[in-house]
Amino acid sequence: MKFDGKSVLVTGASRGIGKATAQAFLDAGARVAVNGRSEASVNTALASLTGAENAVPAPGDVATAKGCEQVVQQALDQLGGIDVLVNNAGVFARATVEDTDEAVWDYVLDANLKGTFFCTRAALPALKEARGSVVNVASESGLNGYAESSAYCASKGAVVNLTRALAIEFAPLVRVNCVCPGAIETDMARAAFALDGDQDAGIAHQKTKYPVQRIGTSEEVAVAILYLASDHAGFVNGVALPMEGGATAGG
Ligand code: NAP
Repeated sequence: MKFDGKSVLVTGASRGIGKATAQAFLDAGARVAVNGRSEASVNTALASLTGAENAVPAPGDVATAKGCEQVVQQALDQLGGIDVLVNNAGVFARATVEDTDEAVWDYVLDANLKGTFFCTRAALPALKEARGSVVNVASESGLNGYAESSAYCASKGAVVNLTRALAIEFAPLVRVNCVCPGAIETDMARAAFALDGDQDAGIAHQKTKYPVQRIGTSEEVAVAILYLASDHAGFVNGVALPMEGGATAGG
């Protein structure tokens, strides 16, 4: 897949899936705006990306509408446009319903859902001009429900259906799709799945839960994101692509 001359904004690209996605777009010839919460996290990522001369920093908190507008504006100022927006930034909180107070709910929903909506809204004029594409990073937790993560599941289920709504509203100018990864070995997953504080044990346990007997990699998710953003997926719009080794296939 080639993205020569294309401008891409990836939110939450300082680590994990977002960073792998930024790298994949750079490898494919794109210029990439790299977002993370802080200048420090973004600069650390930029220092370790290959081809970073084609990457620009766009730090800022996407959990507020104003933050989203500022992040998108930084990308526009430095790249001159946005052909592809990847709404990847997200957070997880393991909490029972009793422990999910308003602060936990807002923490999760604001980053995962509000950020996706308001980054897309801010980038929409540029995306329309570019006849561009949006890829949202939802989750298997947007397709299945899980205990002790109701706010996260609600946020990702909402991203799945937001994807469909935006795909219909923006057609035919801008395509919108999402990926729904299962466990992917990142900082988030290592912390989320730790068993009594043991992250390696948590990851080992996760591997047994998937039909393919392993978890996924950030690079595998990145390839799917590039496909959905590419012209090869020109007839793909409004889909939620499960990437979870068959976990939602049945059984
Ligand atoms: P991660 O390793 O924890 O990285 C999260 C990234 O999001 C970081 O770059 C972080 O920036 C950024 N971020 C978080 N909140 C932000 C905010 N309010 N504003 C701007 N940036 C923010 O997570 P990951 O596992 O790569 O997850 C990436 C996405 O995939 C998330 O949406 C997550 O829900 C989804 N996902 C992950 C898995 C999994 O198993 N890992 C599975 C399904 C879906 P800083 O570095 O500055 O903190």
